[in-house]
Formats: sequence, C-alpha cells, structure tokens
Amino acid sequence: MKLKVDKKLCQGHNRCVVLAGDLFDADDDGYAFIVRQPETEEEIQLARRIVRACPERAVILSED
Ligand code: SF4
Repeated sequence: MKLKVDKKLCQGHNRCVVLAGDLFDADDDGYAFIVRQPETEEEIQLARRIVRACPERAVILSED
C-alpha cells in the first residue's frame, strides 16, 4: 500500500490537507505532498476517501 501525489496533476486546492492533515501537507507553492504513509485501517480508509475527493485525480493509492 503506497500513497502518492502526482505533482504533474496537483493544482494545489489543498482539499487533501484539510481532510487529512496527518497524511498530507502543502509545500511553499501550495502543492500537496505526503507526510507519511497510512498505517491503520482507519488511515487507509481516509486515504481512499482522499483519492475520491481530489478534483484532479492527483492522489494515488497503489495496492502494492
Ligand atoms: S486535493 Fe488533489 S489537487 Fe488538491 S492539493 Fe490535494 S492532491 Fe493536489
């Protein structure tokens, strides 16, 4: 399980940071990056929610 942000797609809405500030943060230009990987089942569910919530489809949760 690996959570990533595609920097080419991210537009800096920061919806991910607002909804999951433990997993995401924004750089100085407002673009999101991953703070740490989801560990608990609750965090994994939250990460899945953010994948659906990102308007740019920039958040990727791979199952490997
Ligand atoms: S919600 Fe998506 S587009 Fe917006 S900052 Fe987060 S990753 Fe980037």
